[in-house]
Amino acid sequence: MQTGARLTIDLGALAANYTDLARRAAPAQCAAVVKANAYGTGLEQAAPALAGAGCKTFFVATPGEAVRLRRLLPSAMIYVLDGLLPGAAKDYAAHDLRPVLGNRQEIGEWSKFCAATGSPPKAALHIDTGMNRLGLEEGQVRELAARPGLLAPVRVSLVMSHLACADDPGDHKNADQLAAFNTLCALLPTAPASLANSAGIFLGNAYHFDLVRPGIALYGGEAVSGAPNPMRPVVSIEAQIAQIRDVKPGESIGYGAAYRCKAPSRIATLPVGYADGILRRAGEAGAHVCISGHPAPFVGRVSMDLITIDVTGIPEALAHRGAWVELVGKHNSVDDLARHAGTIGYEILTSLGNRYARVYVSGTS
Ligand SMILES: *Cc1c(COP(=O)(O)O)cnc(C)c1O
Repeated sequence: MQTGARLTIDLGALAANYTDLARRAAPAQCAAVVKANAYGTGLEQAAPALAGAGCKTFFVATPGEAVRLRRLLPSAMIYVLDGLLPGAAKDYAAHDLRPVLGNRQEIGEWSKFCAATGSPPKAALHIDTGMNRLGLEEGQVRELAARPGLLAPVRVSLVMSHLACADDPGDHKNADQLAAFNTLCALLPTAPASLANSAGIFLGNAYHFDLVRPGIALYGGEAVSGAPNPMRPVVSIEAQIAQIRDVKPGESIGYGAAYRCKAPSRIATLPVGYADGILRRAGEAGAHVCISGHPAPFVGRVSMDLITIDVTGIPEALAHRGAWVELVGKHNSVDDLARHAGTIGYEILTSLGNRYARVYVSGTS
């Protein structure tokens, strides 16, 4: 069935971004973070494309995502970032999923399971170096060091931590976390180490260790705030004008009558809204779409299924019922749209929803 909104995902650009990040991180290995449906781009398409580019290690957030990924990539290494859910060890093993163990209970449960099982999957240890969400606290790492029996049955394939402020290279917390990670890794059994997300890769070699874990940069999003984004765009969003009307001065547009036309205006309605990741706040802060290179501002509130744009002054030959306009693409990045909505590209990508016609292309250059 036809839809008036199209999401185009360039798998060639995704693969090229993987190759680019892998080159920046070498000799460290480069994994791919594909949680949240590969940041909204579609796990079924993105994961095989990344594997095709040479990626062997994948991170997801939940066991459900991991099982979906296992069907796609039977021999990939798959880590579950949320850790070990209570009582789930057997299920992880059934799908050869590696839990990222982040507290003493998880380690206790996994260790017991491993001791009772022939060949359990390997596992990662997550050390907290300043995020205070998941991960072993310093005291717990020291306890593991003092009591090696606790970890003895566990085959540790990775020791990792996560950076809180890597998007700001000037933040001193980066160096603090790096120092803490080095100190705590030295207390644990020798295993490959991993600290860097996308932004961490750009902090330099000291942050790369043995494995880097980019997410957003693979999908073309901005990793380092305020710096030029070197990645290739992966996602573009277009919508087809559903209707155009002339609106008199003084008349209002949309919910809350939040916008009033000051002059005679031509208003076009597009069949996308906040249910499609065009977040409601974008309407308040001067976001625009592009019609054959002409900017057209959002006017009125973003509704669930529709947005309204001002096309006054754009030639009718370009702005007419059925014309395709760009919401995200050459003229407007995902991060531009995010800034207008007071958020980050990550939130736009993971909010795209499933109403678009999704078109997968494999790139042009
Ligand atoms: C999401 C996530 C990543 C990827 O982060 P990006 O900023 O998207 O590169 C890496 N590591 C962990 C632990 C994560 O949760």
